[in-house]
Amino acid sequence: MPFTAPSWVPKLPFDPPDSIPISEFILEEHYGRHPLGYSKPPFTCGLSGKNYSALEVRERVDYLARGLAKEFGWHPNKGSEWDKVVAVFSVNTLDTLPLAWATHRLGGIQSPANAAYSAAELEYQLKDCGAKVLFTCLPLLKTAQEAAQKAGIPKNRIYILEVPKEFTGGKGSPSGMKTVDDFIREGSRLERPEPLNWEQGHGAKRTAFLCYSSGTSGLPKGVMISHRNVIANTMQITAYDKPYRDTKRQPGTQSDYIENVLGLLPMSHIYGLVVICHASVYRGDSVIVLPKFEFATFLDSIQRFKINSLYLVPPIIILMTKNKDVLAKYDLSSVWSVFTGAAPLGKETAEDLQKIFPSWSIRQGYGLTETCTVVCSTNPDDIWFGSSGSLLPGIECKIVTLEGNEVTGYDQPGELLVKSPSVVLGYLHNDKANKETFQDGYMRTGDEAVIRKAPSGHEHVFIVDRIKELIKVKGHQVAPAELEAHLLTHPAVNDCAIIQVPDDAAGEVPKAFVVKSPAVGLEESDRMLARQIQKHVEDHKARYKWITGGIEFIDAIPKSPSGKILRRCQDHEDDDAAMLD
Ligand code: AMP
Repeated sequence: MPFTAPSWVPKLPFDPPDSIPISEFILEEHYGRHPLGYSKPPFTCGLSGKNYSALEVRERVDYLARGLAKEFGWHPNKGSEWDKVVAVFSVNTLDTLPLAWATHRLGGIQSPANAAYSAAELEYQLKDCGAKVLFTCLPLLKTAQEAAQKAGIPKNRIYILEVPKEFTGGKGSPSGMKTVDDFIREGSRLERPEPLNWEQGHGAKRTAFLCYSSGTSGLPKGVMISHRNVIANTMQITAYDKPYRDTKRQPGTQSDYIENVLGLLPMSHIYGLVVICHASVYRGDSVIVLPKFEFATFLDSIQRFKINSLYLVPPIIILMTKNKDVLAKYDLSSVWSVFTGAAPLGKETAEDLQKIFPSWSIRQGYGLTETCTVVCSTNPDDIWFGSSGSLLPGIECKIVTLEGNEVTGYDQPGELLVKSPSVVLGYLHNDKANKETFQDGYMRTGDEAVIRKAPSGHEHVFIVDRIKELIKVKGHQVAPAELEAHLLTHPAVNDCAIIQVPDDAAGEVPKAFVVKSPAVGLEESDRMLARQIQKHVEDHKARYKWITGGIEFIDAIPKSPSGKILRRCQDHEDDDAAMLD
């Protein structure tokens, strides 16, 4: 029998609709969203304070869709969604999600790229997703232009998402380049395109977002996330959180509790995209948008905007616990909840934060791009440090041992398999990875988990190890295969393997084992060679992929008879033993 949500978790109020685009679910009131007129402004800039009301956002999305339809000649009911791929390479902005929803109105796809990417990394995504147009922001314009040129996107198909002047050092949008505001202004004078004529099942088949994840092995792949996937996880999160949110209602009123939440994590990653943006906006909350992590600005905006819930990743919590004195300079009394995900939060770190803020509710969630985010999370009334909490409604899980036997009891480890209406359509152009990952209605997570019974009597999921080839640096994905392929392009590298090693600040970082090429002269010191190889990575890869765990030279890379690198380490404490068992 698969594991399911505990009995206290409310069921979904209705089946996640499969005949509407996300934009309709989020911006219209018939699907249970918080009434538009009583919602907080969906997005508020954490630097300038600028925002639009929920009704204004709905109107802006409408006008933007009209403007995009005219500019690109897109018709909602003509052509495939793959003819209408809008790539976004930007820090978080007020318009990033409205742009997605306007694209969805026209039956198109948004493919968001990590704002830390180098031009080469962005070029890979632009080519792979077949983007026709690119939206970027001023600070990233140069990188975006370089990548677009190499990917064959003409200059006049690059557009600007505005970021506050506080972030650009006073600079405005470059003259001669069209901005989202220009589209909206033009769109307000244009006819509305006809509505999407979707039938039952269309929203479950059509891709809405194409995010990138390496999955259990290999290079980053386009993950096809349907409209229904996003709608389903938004509903699952909302239903799961409803009991505690009901207890937060003002006494004597029936109106739902709404709050200010922190919108710091990248909207290009599934956690920022679905948990922070979609679920919050649906519930009527305001997302306080920050373009970049900077400790003082982060604390200052909590104080200034009286933020109630912080959505974080473990490295930020670690930084907070190590800087108690800095925290004391700010009034953080509006906060009651911290939610963390994307990488494991150590029990000790959670305890340290709790000591500083005894009243805060420190919750952990677990999810993946491939499950369109949350599979399980702790509830404010049932917190257990180290646990990733209970399953959300509508989710079934199996735990399967390496030998392929299903585990039915507690405390028995095995790979976690997930079935949910939020499990994505699959990887773009990759049948092999699809066959390996999506089997019999379940998604193989590549994570090792156990189910334990909490003191409350409810079942909790503990993620105990990662079986797959993935390194999580500050919550970002680093695919060992990508770094290995890059290292092999350096003339001094004959063979190599990348593994993860623990890191106090980042959680984990990549470390390389390198077999030198015979061409390397004896006079070349290991230190100099290591520096050259590091530089080769630094010149071409995003900063979080840099090999900060060090480079070690060895004679041969241990491999299985089929040539697979044996990179798995059992003991991360011992660096020497970390390589290959
Ligand atoms: P991504 O697709 O980038 O969200 O990465 C998903 C992966 O992040 C999962 O398969 C896990 O390996 C890891 N992860 C996410 N949340 C947690 C968590 N709460 N505890 C441990 N690992 C996590």
